[in-house]
Amino acid sequence: MSEKRTELSELGEFGLIDKLTKDFKNKNAATIYGIGDDAAVLERDEEHYTLLSTDMMLEGIHFNLMYMPLKHLGYKAVSSNVSDICAMNGTPEHITVSLAVSNRFPQEALEELYEGIAHACDIFNVDLVGGDTTSSVSGLGINIAITGKVKKTDVVYRSGAKENDLIVVTGDLGGAYMGLQILEREKEVYKANPNIQPDLDGHDYILQRQMKPEARTDVIAMFGELKVKPTSMIDISDGLASELLHIAKASDVSCQIYDEKLPIDAKTSMTAMEMNVNPNTAGLNGGEDYELLFTISQKDYETIGANPNFTVIGYISRKGEGSHIVDKNGAAIELTAQGWNHFKD
Ligand code: ADP
Ligand code: MG
Repeated sequence: MSEKRTELSELGEFGLIDKLTKDFKNKNAATIYGIGDDAAVLERDEEHYTLLSTDMMLEGIHFNLMYMPLKHLGYKAVSSNVSDICAMNGTPEHITVSLAVSNRFPQEALEELYEGIAHACDIFNVDLVGGDTTSSVSGLGINIAITGKVKKTDVVYRSGAKENDLIVVTGDLGGAYMGLQILEREKEVYKANPNIQPDLDGHDYILQRQMKPEARTDVIAMFGELKVKPTSMIDISDGLASELLHIAKASDVSCQIYDEKLPIDAKTSMTAMEMNVNPNTAGLNGGEDYELLFTISQKDYETIGANPNFTVIGYISRKGEGSHIVDKNGAAIELTAQGWNHFKD
């Protein structure tokens, strides 16, 4: 280590990953694609690749047990990993679960966590095949590693978007973020006066989006049925803007999207306005929806455009143009990543 000291806040999460990993060269012929996508792609058999990904969640950073039931946390930890396998157009198969636990947690609490994990394993047809358990000085940490399978001809990377492709998202955006805002608001009310009951009425949808996100394995099955193969894909864990910029960078292109096209549920918009948040900001920068963001070539527009699961939000242009969000008056604002870029906040 040299004497120089670079603050992580200067680098940001992705700058740090680049710095740490740039000199690694793959040594095994079976490593088809390493760092830089939602999952690594590994040789398997003549027709298939194995996918491998991992995600860590720490108490106080990714979740707050004041309002996140452990059962939901277990479910969410699995679902968010499954989402990375979906982002490669694959099917999940195996997980390992590693825990760091402080003595604050009794056996019963961890059993509750595992109930959620078991439920997600059933829903997503995944086998729990191992893990590791250690103590922690304070708090709970969960790391899940996941494998999946994809036909070689079906694998989709972040890097395949081409000029004039259409940009599409599944489901709706911003709900998980607004759900979090409601939970944070009620936490503050509770802290100020523990006798006041939290007021969560009427917010079921966005609370569900925050606490029990569903990885879109259904969409991957749909691509198979519709015979559509996206040209590029990523899952929306950090926020639409941040993920769009990942696709733009990996594909060496630019993205143009329209704010009027962002799929934002009425319940999300209502809560956003109630809390003085611009609904489009929630849709653009709110994370954790675990929807899929992908691009298709124009020939697939007829198949995708009319399907209620999908919303076309813009198109791919050449690299030099820069990535923008365009408002209804035609004014273009440069897209910037304001999602969960750890260290930068
Ligand atoms: P995602 O949000 O889809 O989980 P990330 O943004 O966390 O993906 O990671 C981007 C890429 O960087 C992935 O290929 C991931 O495996 C890799 N990566 C992240 N952190 C590290 C690390 N500490 N060391 C090596 N690779 C990393
Ligand atoms: Mg991802």
